[in-house]
Amino acid sequence: AKAAGRNTVRFFDPEMQARLRERSVLEADLRLGLGRDELRLHYQPVVDAGGRILGAEALVRWMHPTRGLVPPLAFIPLAEESGLILPLGQWVLRQACQQLVLWDRRAATRHLNIAINVSARQFRHPDFIDQVEEVLGTTGANARRLKFELTESLLFHDVEDILGKMGRLRARGVGFSLDDFGTGYSSLSYLKRLPLDQLKIDQSFVRDLLTDPNDAAIVRTTLGLALSLGLEVVAEGVETEGQFDFLRRHGCRSFQGYLFGRPLPIGEMEQQQGLLD
Ligand code: C2E
Ligand code: CA
Ligand code: CA
Ligand code: CA
Repeated sequence: AKAAGRNTVRFFDPEMQARLRERSVLEADLRLGLGRDELRLHYQPVVDAGGRILGAEALVRWMHPTRGLVPPLAFIPLAEESGLILPLGQWVLRQACQQLVLWDRRAATRHLNIAINVSARQFRHPDFIDQVEEVLGTTGANARRLKFELTESLLFHDVEDILGKMGRLRARGVGFSLDDFGTGYSSLSYLKRLPLDQLKIDQSFVRDLLTDPNDAAIVRTTLGLALSLGLEVVAEGVETEGQFDFLRRHGCRSFQGYLFGRPLPIGEMEQQQGLLD
């Protein structure tokens, strides 16, 4: 009776039930929200060593009718589990491509790139390549201005399949970046095998760069390795001049973080970066 009681207690754990209910409400809301045009893209500048904008990372937000602006970490994992990441990811890709086409029309913005985050589940989907082709075709965006940010979690899956897909997209002009580098479990040998253009040093290593010798060593080593493999490196989460200086001194050439600009709606980002004439 005691054992059964324990199981019963676990099954009816009110906290867990409330969490499950909250999740299914959020999932239903997200499904509706996708149809109701509630998603927004914010753009965060990526700059060079002189602070000049090279492009931007598109970061999704959800304008919920009652909850307000929901950050991606509150709904992307849910979207991944429920499969909603596919329509969501497709929407992000289309928006970003439409923005590239707008940028292509003006001299001040023609050279800029856009990076989007592609989750492992989205990338692995059998329809992914066709979806990318469809969006590139209908928007007319220049694929050479588009970068896909992938995470190391992708490497748990069929690497041959992933290499094949990356090859097809590369042939189309799309570039690849390995996001959150150093936080996952990837072996360094993947760095050689994957056709990457770029590594992004995770902000968790940049944060205490000036005070934690281990973080400093990781960042220096990553920069050395990436540069010798011919990869471009973006340092994420750069918030201070001190971090910026350290990174520059160790060979980093691309930077992203609050020091240069927070993620903003496109018009505000363009204004802040002096891209409007
Ligand atoms: P991420 O790809 O690593 O994006 C960088 C995150 O760091 C963003 O959080 C950005 O706002 C934040 N950040 C940028 N600079 C600084 C800084 O100087 N200091 C600090 N403390 N933070 C900084 P955000 O926008 O909340 O996005 C969180 C994560 O959600 C992203 O991490 C990415 O993994 C995911 N995500 C965002 N948009 C999408 C999307 O369209 N699709 C997918 N699959 N995932 C997305
Ligand atoms: Ca990213
Ligand atoms: Ca990142
Ligand atoms: Ca991250």
